[in-house]
Amino acid sequence: MEILEDIFPPQIGVLTHIGSAHSSNFVDEEELTEEKIKLFKHSETIIFNGDNDLVYNKINEIYSCKNLISYGLKHRNDITITNDPNDKSEPLQIRYFNDEFQLPAQQRDEATLRNALCVVAVLKEFGFNFKQIVDKINTLKSVEMRLESVNGLRNNLIINDSFNLDLDSLKIAYQFIKEYNKPKKTLILTDIVEGKNAEQLYGEVVKITNQQDFSKIILIGDEIINYQNDFKAETYTFNNVNELIDSHILNQIESELILLKGARKFEIEKVKNHLELQKHDTVLEVNLNAILHNINVHKALLKPETKMMAMVKAYSYGLGGYEIAEFLQHHHIDYLGVAYADEGVDLRKNGITAPIMVMNPEQHSYNIIIDYNLEPEIYSFRVLELFTQQLAQKGIQEKYPIHIKLETGMHRLGFKEDELNILTEKLKHLNVKVASIFSHLSIADVPEGKDYTLEQIEIFKKNSDNLISGLHYQPIRHILNTSGIVHYSDYQFDMVRIGIGMVGISSSEKIKKQLQGAVSFKTVISQISTVNAGESIGYNRNYRTKNSTQIATIPVGYADGIPRLIGNEVGKVGIAKKLFPIVGNVCMDMMMINIGDAAAKEGDEVIIFNSNPSLEEFSNYCKTIPYEVLTSISRRVKRIYIKN
Ligand SMILES: *Cc1c(COP(=O)(O)O)cnc(C)c1O
Repeated sequence: MEILEDIFPPQIGVLTHIGSAHSSNFVDEEELTEEKIKLFKHSETIIFNGDNDLVYNKINEIYSCKNLISYGLKHRNDITITNDPNDKSEPLQIRYFNDEFQLPAQQRDEATLRNALCVVAVLKEFGFNFKQIVDKINTLKSVEMRLESVNGLRNNLIINDSFNLDLDSLKIAYQFIKEYNKPKKTLILTDIVEGKNAEQLYGEVVKITNQQDFSKIILIGDEIINYQNDFKAETYTFNNVNELIDSHILNQIESELILLKGARKFEIEKVKNHLELQKHDTVLEVNLNAILHNINVHKALLKPETKMMAMVKAYSYGLGGYEIAEFLQHHHIDYLGVAYADEGVDLRKNGITAPIMVMNPEQHSYNIIIDYNLEPEIYSFRVLELFTQQLAQKGIQEKYPIHIKLETGMHRLGFKEDELNILTEKLKHLNVKVASIFSHLSIADVPEGKDYTLEQIEIFKKNSDNLISGLHYQPIRHILNTSGIVHYSDYQFDMVRIGIGMVGISSSEKIKKQLQGAVSFKTVISQISTVNAGESIGYNRNYRTKNSTQIATIPVGYADGIPRLIGNEVGKVGIAKKLFPIVGNVCMDMMMINIGDAAAKEGDEVIIFNSNPSLEEFSNYCKTIPYEVLTSISRRVKRIYIKN
């Protein structure tokens, strides 16, 4: 902050919120706060969120001689709300030092209220009067942005952003779809229902749309279709979505990205439903922002120059194939790791260009490994020989990148110490380039494993040093998995390999608190029945009701990856934030839940896991680990990707 302060010392400092984004670099929040407010060293005025005690005390202590303006919901603040904000029948009564004024506002969650107070403070500082401030705030619209991407029929990718439609959200959506490299794109756009001058508004829409490279544009609504000829693409027009659906134009779209942008009243969700792959009430929802956040939490433990390989093996731990890899590639992941060549080929076919390491290069797959520019893990002389023979057979001239696996204690795959001299000799003469040397830790997740882990690292260091001194160049070295990153970051070498940490799982309580759950497995209640005391539920009559109760049936079963052993009150699911036991045997496609006298309705959401129960809790019901739970969820469960 001192460096920043030197570059641009602000005259007015505004401190809105201290978040957890950088907290891992500080011993505690106090140290973080002290660092942040160094930016205000030469400020005349400081406007700050006085609801945070630490901020309130620190600023008052360190900067008591400056012009201090605190805002917040606590009444000690200079700017606050004096009536009950939850009573929406009354306008907000705002106190600004000794003055009061009224602010009519509908959205009254705490964050919005604090933001509004902060805006009042800043505008007052710039000399606006209360009436001007109220008028301005009243013209603000709440921004709701939630883009969902789902797989469509005919290999289309549907980006649905129909939560609001105005010029700004359209610009954001155009930014967003740049992240996907589908070669062809179709836009489906409705009238923008806004009070503005239509000529001007649609002129602007045409301008920003023509800067994109849509191959088809489908316009819906009686306003926007007047501008059909201004769009530079193959354009179709419809008065409403039903006409579009009946037209069969949608059925001709194949292997494209389809962006849906519609004002609410057009019900563009109908188009989405029509285009979607399968309709299922049961979904595995993957939050890509959470994955990125979790990666960044781990990156914060590493040196900035340390590279990161993301392990996307086994269908990205069950979360999906290229969707995850594509997102990671967009965010500049250095390497991707897959288990089998097929998985790598799938990524390449979907436009992934990042380097990909294949950990189990089966001998029949060397051909496609080379064809698709994948990089094999070489763990034995047999594999080295067969692979280099294949290189020669295909007439590959340039040195091919490979990854040398060293055995250091896992006793799974890898070269052992006594093989290294011969290996070095062979590598010098073969047509390969060692892109990396690596090993894998077997017990980095528990404190009892410390001695063994340090021993593994020691062996790795020694043996890789040896190999490198014979090679006369510097391959990348890596040994840490997620738990390794968390507990042994001193041994990060040149790269680390993150896996389960991306999902939000950690073997460290401290890190776990900073991570976000990236996966939700959910479904809905199919039916609720009232059942008398003593009745049996499901196959084999293994469970009997103790009292008269309500039984909810939900459409997931062992064919979806729910282990049968969690029936009969071993496992629980979440409904309206409460947990209820699974009763009776789990069926192939269904299971029954005892919901007692809960006020749930048919069609209500049921959480198999996300936060309550969490993935770890669910794994405990199943007597296994999150890795197995995730990779067991069957392919018929639809994966949905969310970006906020
Ligand atoms: C799966 C895997 C990882 C990632 O492990 P996590 O515990 O999920 O971080 C790292 N390295 C190798 C070789 C792996 O197979």
